[in-house]
Amino acid sequence: KLVDWDAIASELAGIEIIRESSQITKLSLDYYHFSPVLQQTLCDKRADLVVRPTNEAEVLRVAAVCVKYQVPLTVRGAGTGNYGQCIPLSGGIILDTTRMHGIRWIKPGLACVEPGVKLSAFDKQAREMGWELRMVPSTYRTATIGGFIGGGSGGIGSITYGQLRDRGNLHAVRVVTLEDEPRVLELRGDEVQKVNHAYGTNGIITELEIPLAPAYAWAEIIVVFDDFMTAARFGEALAHSDGLMKKLISIHAWPIPSYFTALKNYLPENKHCALLMIAESCLEPFQDLVRENGGQVTYQKPAQEASKGTSLVEFTWNHTTLHARSADPSLTYLQTFFFTLERVEHFYHHFGDEVLMHLEFLRTNGQVIPGGLQVVRYTTEERLNEIIHYHEEKGAFIANPHTYILEDGGMKTVNVEQLKFKEQIDPYGLLNPGKMRAWLER
Ligand code: FAD
Repeated sequence: KLVDWDAIASELAGIEIIRESSQITKLSLDYYHFSPVLQQTLCDKRADLVVRPTNEAEVLRVAAVCVKYQVPLTVRGAGTGNYGQCIPLSGGIILDTTRMHGIRWIKPGLACVEPGVKLSAFDKQAREMGWELRMVPSTYRTATIGGFIGGGSGGIGSITYGQLRDRGNLHAVRVVTLEDEPRVLELRGDEVQKVNHAYGTNGIITELEIPLAPAYAWAEIIVVFDDFMTAARFGEALAHSDGLMKKLISIHAWPIPSYFTALKNYLPENKHCALLMIAESCLEPFQDLVRENGGQVTYQKPAQEASKGTSLVEFTWNHTTLHARSADPSLTYLQTFFFTLERVEHFYHHFGDEVLMHLEFLRTNGQVIPGGLQVVRYTTEERLNEIIHYHEEKGAFIANPHTYILEDGGMKTVNVEQLKFKEQIDPYGLLNPGKMRAWLER
């Protein structure tokens, strides 16, 4: 269908518009290339035009124009997603939220922000008042809060607070609809699940209320072990130590530590490591736990120096994959809930050098469990699927990072609530089309 982009641009006069093709290319893509499968399918997808509104009124104008001309609209935060969440499959307009970065208020335990505020910028302000975000992805320096809610799942802090989808981890949102006359809806409490982790298919989030955690002085620590399962058991023991405040327990089997070149002085050859964030006030009892498990502390960075130099955060969660891929671009990854260390041990021996163990401990449904973002030596898509199926047969849960379809990732089933909400607020299916299976197969 022919679209008059000049007419659209002139209707949006007063709002920042980008039409230059190299800029559009940059703003159409994300970190989908971590997956060799998505790399092939998504590399040529482009928007026709990018807009950068500065407030909700401008978002409403963009929404109205998309409905009038029946063109797709895909929301983009910082574009750090890994599954092509913000890549427009059928062209159209990209709505970039990065100019909507206001912090409306911060009070004890709760804050209200615009979607484009960067996680790190928000935390800097909140910490001045003794609070911080409950959890952040390892991309916290660049990612936006709206993008984390729209496309992320959890991260540093999930050891204590669970995942974004857990009740209480998102209090309220304001969303702009794509109806004939776009409006703003406010969703509170359980209603937020209609847009939580919906890849921007269920409305444009223009404001969020998010809960906060008390900010501890976090020390960053590396502990190394001779044996991988000893490192994993130490991680579990720390995860279960209710008296020790922690924000990160990230365990890596050799040779993964060899990919962390900036940390090489602290990561001896052939040793397995734990990258940790522990409250400084807990370091004394923590040392006893290290001793009990036969670990050796090789690095300790005081909280006071947190903002200086390298942060261990940027070697954990999916940053581990980033470093592995800079050493060897043929490496890719999986996202797994192992639930038990017995399973971890089984897969560790079963796959050997083909699937390298990287564990992240996190809380889910009231229990602390080992999750994993294993580094995989990729050969073919068939073999990758075989590896996935083997994990599932043995009782692990895989949140497949090699698909851009919402339901085929972590969700697995159709979310009827999200589908019903979409029918109401996006009747023409213009929001990030092609991502929600339930909508495609109605
Ligand atoms: P984008 O990628 O821009 O958007 C993500 C999705 O949200 C898209 O579908 C988009 O349409 C939608 N969206 C964005 N803004 C809005 C809005 N205002 N309204 C409605 N929908 C919206 N993720 C984790 O959860 N944990 C991790 O630890 C983690 N580590 C990572 C490490 C690396 C090296 C990389 C490359 C990625 C990692 N990610 C991780 C994925 C990603 O970085 C995070 O989920 C991040 O929070 C996404 O934020 P963003 O601003 O880049 O969102």
